[in-house]
Amino acid sequence: MPIYRPPLRDMQFILHEVLGVSDELQALAPHAQLDQGTIDAVLEEGGKFATEVLFPLNIGGDEEGCTLDQTTHAVSTPKGFKEAYTRYVAGGWAALSCDPAYGGQGLPMVLNQCFYEMMNSANQAWTMYPGLSHGAYECLHAHGTREQKDLYLPRLTNGEWTGTMCLTESHCGTDLGLLRTRAEPRADGSYRITGEKIFISAGEHDLASNIVHLVLARLPDAPAGSKGISLFVVPKFEPRADGSLGERNAIYCAGLEHKMGIHGNATAQLVLEGASGSLVGQPHQGLAAMFVMMNAARLGVGNQSLGLTEVAYQNALVYARERIQMRSLSGAKAKDRPADPIIVHPDVRRMLLTAKAYAEGARALSLYCALLLDKERSLPDGHLRQDCADMLALLTPIVKAFTTDNGFEATTLCQQVLGGHGYIREWGMEQHVRDARINMIYEGTNTIQALDLLGRKVLGNNGATLRKFGQLLGRLAAEEGGNGKMTEFIEPVVNLGRQMTELTTDIGLRSLQNPDEMGAAAVDYLRAAGHLVFGYFFARMAQVALRKIAAGSTDPFYPAKLQTARFYFARLFPETATLIPRARAGSGVLMDTDLALA
Ligand SMILES: Cc1cc2nc3c(=O)[nH]c(=O)nc-3n(C[C@H](O)[C@H](O)[C@H](O)COP(=O)(O)OP(=O)(O)OC[C@H]3O[C@@H](n4cnc5c(N)ncnc54)[C@H](O)[C@@H]3O)c2cc1C
Repeated sequence: MPIYRPPLRDMQFILHEVLGVSDELQALAPHAQLDQGTIDAVLEEGGKFATEVLFPLNIGGDEEGCTLDQTTHAVSTPKGFKEAYTRYVAGGWAALSCDPAYGGQGLPMVLNQCFYEMMNSANQAWTMYPGLSHGAYECLHAHGTREQKDLYLPRLTNGEWTGTMCLTESHCGTDLGLLRTRAEPRADGSYRITGEKIFISAGEHDLASNIVHLVLARLPDAPAGSKGISLFVVPKFEPRADGSLGERNAIYCAGLEHKMGIHGNATAQLVLEGASGSLVGQPHQGLAAMFVMMNAARLGVGNQSLGLTEVAYQNALVYARERIQMRSLSGAKAKDRPADPIIVHPDVRRMLLTAKAYAEGARALSLYCALLLDKERSLPDGHLRQDCADMLALLTPIVKAFTTDNGFEATTLCQQVLGGHGYIREWGMEQHVRDARINMIYEGTNTIQALDLLGRKVLGNNGATLRKFGQLLGRLAAEEGGNGKMTEFIEPVVNLGRQMTELTTDIGLRSLQNPDEMGAAAVDYLRAAGHLVFGYFFARMAQVALRKIAAGSTDPFYPAKLQTARFYFARLFPETATLIPRARAGSGVLMDTDLALA
């Protein structure tokens, strides 16, 4: 039977010992009273919910999937999903980090991020239902009118209703400028929306009484392309002013996708037949408004892969300790048994440690980003808020793409640890691989994240934010410059920082002549940047661990952290030696290949 244990110790280490979140949060007015005890208590309870309620539904949800009744357009989620959602709502979990003005608990995003990691480990498909609701909540909170906020936010906050994001159409996913769904203004100020959306996660289900669809569509006078897209809120049932459910709106599920993973989540084809909607934000500014949701979702998708990496690692570790095959190359280790447990073999350890290092690096980065989000919202100083927003913008594509690429590699390696038993269903490992694959595709494919990072976030501001990240690195190097024990962790990152600066200038100059140069370099550039960021966080984690050991701690957690950090720098970080020449290889070898691709 698969297992899952919430990684509370590692979360607490990053939150309290590396990031010092209690002090950081107490400096923010909304969280001034929040202490470490409360944070830890919420994490513990959240871990119980994930383990006891969601995890037992993961395999069954994958096997059963969702079903559509073609006559009523109703979708049934797998057995137990609805009951779990009822418990989620009753436990107040939906409201965790929502605004108290709408009934939320007002807890920080950094705490929500931990909770979501655990839910993703336990059951990614289920977790996508509340995850999308939270995105819809964020979008309406940022861009909704007073009436929209008063109507929708309290019910998204308490989980009574869920949300979706409806962007994709059959002919357009990446290029939303091509979308065709139309919105015609009506005399009463509402809009009549007609079109077809595909691939809409949580687009129809039986968990909640209403679904709040956020739909991108074009107004009649819209300019062509992405500058002509507006955002609308289109509820499944049109609510009356008091929030009670009125007419069934003309937005229906016409089909469910049959897909590789996340079977428990309904991926819906939605048909809008003159559905009634109201405009969110300004006309033709829909993409900008939707970006609030998309940015939150990108951090969320990184978190999905973090969750899968962690749960796959835990199960591979248990298996590797129990499964006996062959003897250790350096002599029998379990002499009382006919063979040694496979964990004695160096390559099995490489696979396990890869997953562990990717999980721990991703957790540090993801929680750092969530803290930036809290600070961006609540720091009193506008300049500091902007700094946090800039850094978050830089790191978001890295969280999304680097964590999800690593997550797929890690779950595949964990599957490999189980040999043939990883390929069959019984152990649950092949599900993690299948579930992890979508995270590299949706919310903007990882290529699009790479273009966003290099094109917009780095070259777009002449590397200004990247230099700010470099300053963090510089501070760490200055702080620990004289500490020989930190050299092995800091030197490689500082060297990579130097190489990245040169690489950025080089690509920037070449892109001025030929923009394909940027497109050719972007994916390798993002991976190298991912290692720069992970390297920085592993150095910070090593710094804390070394200090604790020097102060006399005998907690094995700290030497274990150092071992993982050393593995990371020795076996994963050196990938940058290949990535940098690849990013420099230029566009010619890709673009002058018409014969090869004929
Ligand atoms: C299970 C599932 C759930 C989803 N959930 C949602 C949802 O809830 N809401 C929603 O709106 N959508 C959702 N999507 C859609 C998803 O976001 C899109 O599939 C994704 O954005 C890619 O779009 P596409 O499939 O049309 O691929 P395309 O845009 O056709 O891309 C095909 C390939 O071309 C590459 N490409 C495209 N343009 C460029 C470029 N300029 N430079 C380099 N490479 C490029 C892409 O990276 C990709 O590899 C979901 C999809 C799936 C499969």
